[in-house]
Amino acid sequence: MKHYPMIINGHAIDSHDRLSIVNPATSEVFATCARASEHHVDTAVHAAKMAFTDWSIRPDQERKALIHELGALIEEHKDELIELVVCETGKPVVGLGGVGATMEVMGASIWSHVTADINLPDEIIQDDETAYVAVTRKPLGVVASVTPWNWPLLIAIWHLIAAIRAGNTVVIKPSELTPLTTARFVQLANSVLPPGVLNIVMGAGDIGQRLTSAPAVNKVVFTGSTATGKRIMAAASNSLKRLVLELGGNDAAIVLPGSNLDRIASDIFAAAFHNNGQTCACLKRLYVHESQYGALCERLVAVARGLKIGNGLNPDIELGPIQNEAQRTIVENLVAAATREGGQILCGGKRIEGLGYFYEPTLVAGLTNGCELVDQEQFGPVLPIISYPSIKEAIRLANDSPNGLGGSVWGDDLAQAEEVGRQLECGTVWINGHGGVQPDAPFGGVKESGFGVEFGRFGLEECTSIQTVKIHRQ
Ligand code: NDP
Repeated sequence: MKHYPMIINGHAIDSHDRLSIVNPATSEVFATCARASEHHVDTAVHAAKMAFTDWSIRPDQERKALIHELGALIEEHKDELIELVVCETGKPVVGLGGVGATMEVMGASIWSHVTADINLPDEIIQDDETAYVAVTRKPLGVVASVTPWNWPLLIAIWHLIAAIRAGNTVVIKPSELTPLTTARFVQLANSVLPPGVLNIVMGAGDIGQRLTSAPAVNKVVFTGSTATGKRIMAAASNSLKRLVLELGGNDAAIVLPGSNLDRIASDIFAAAFHNNGQTCACLKRLYVHESQYGALCERLVAVARGLKIGNGLNPDIELGPIQNEAQRTIVENLVAAATREGGQILCGGKRIEGLGYFYEPTLVAGLTNGCELVDQEQFGPVLPIISYPSIKEAIRLANDSPNGLGGSVWGDDLAQAEEVGRQLECGTVWINGHGGVQPDAPFGGVKESGFGVEFGRFGLEECTSIQTVKIHRQ
């Protein structure tokens, strides 16, 4: 069985303790990885701190060239990485709407190249006979990254490429459920980067907390649940660490009256169900005007009934299993609550018996805000469809949530859709789409979905502090 070590200060480090990694399509252990102790975490943070001195002053063009090399390495090893993503996450090679393991790996390469080419030049405030005043961007130091199990490689790349591009060094701690693709990437990256610039520790229990509260860590970037994000924020106050928290979402979508349902139904379905709904910015609450409610429900049920579900290694498969049994139980409990609260199960509604953590894609009608399935992030293949009487009420219902990651408006009148979209309380709003992110546009949440952004210039700036330089000329 293949085994993956940690990488600390450029060296492969093993441990007595090991984590067993389960393939969610078969429920079987298919690989193992080293399990960090607190000592490993401290050693990794120290290595990153030592490496920062040289990396932070390395000429920008050299850092840029090395990050392009990382992007090329991902592409060179794409077949191996795609298979690893499928085996550890369950997500299919291609997947519903093309949102699968291939997109994850190729996206990781593209994100690396695009981020490599973003520059943060000095901004000149004053340049005259009395003074020269410029604002410069400086790296922060050691960045701790804690990543989740839904998009392990892509989210790792989002965290760490921007950090090292800006001159920081990194210790990454992937989810204990899906550490392997990240471990393999870090191993490959260390054939290019100087030792200590990028380190990985794998573990479970309190390894994440040990890492994010280490005094030498200057910034934490975390993607995961709001509850864990709040704990990280509380611990970060000790040494005033910088934070980027990309937390849970409960994204609303509003379908405006008079929409061409044939044009949008399958896109809406894919936005909610790709990767089995296990994406922070999946469409998670669907608000449909009462005049089109029944018609859209029918179309969505037809899409659900035609899906190919199975082991994602088969290229025809659109939906794989849920990533872990605990998440399947969350989904199951929310569906049970929906039934108790008067929801009608239009299709699905139960686990698929046999090996793996499969669950039928499930559509639920007849609920509204205040019901558990509407109010809580389901993070699984189940979507509540809610009828609304007026656009004003739809906006109120969409904003009636502690979360604020993304939102969308669907309709034929783009100006009207945009006007409604701009009233949604969320970090990104999409019109006639949902969840599409790109490496040059910022992405992040508001309210309890977190703060700080990733991607593009704005994301890179989050990896720096400002230094104002003033040169007196008189
Ligand atoms: P969590 O959000 O709780 O994250 C677990 C990870 O955080 C582990 O790596 C853990 O490492 C680390 N961690 C836990 N506590 C701390 C801490 N105090 N400081 C630093 N790191 C810490 O994820 P779960 O897997 O439990 O998922 C729970 C829910 O989160 C899901 O049901 C889903 O709703 C949501 N979720 C959202 C995601 C998103 O993309 N926004 C992604 C995945 C899940 P260790 O055990 O070593 O401490």
